[in-house]
Amino acid sequence: MGVLPCDRVGCENIMCDRLSDRHGYICWECFEELIESGTLNIKEFMGRELKYEEKPDLEFYEKIFPIMEGSPFHPDTPSG
Ligand SMILES: [Zn+2]
Repeated sequence: MGVLPCDRVGCENIMCDRLSDRHGYICWECFEELIESGTLNIKEFMGRELKYEEKPDLEFYEKIFPIMEGSPFHPDTPSG
């Protein structure tokens, strides 16, 4: 098998197993990132060099759904 460079901007992988008529080659790494990103805009994804932003950390979600006072999981609840 020859060298099949990934067609995504900024990607230097040369081992691609996937080929799109429209978007060219994509390596498994970018393909996984594509799935992870959940984007439907393949064209934009392929032209985008930087990785999609890291997923927000736990704190981000915890601020949205804080643990209620009185819950055994609340940090201020005395244990024991
Ligand atoms: Zn790639």
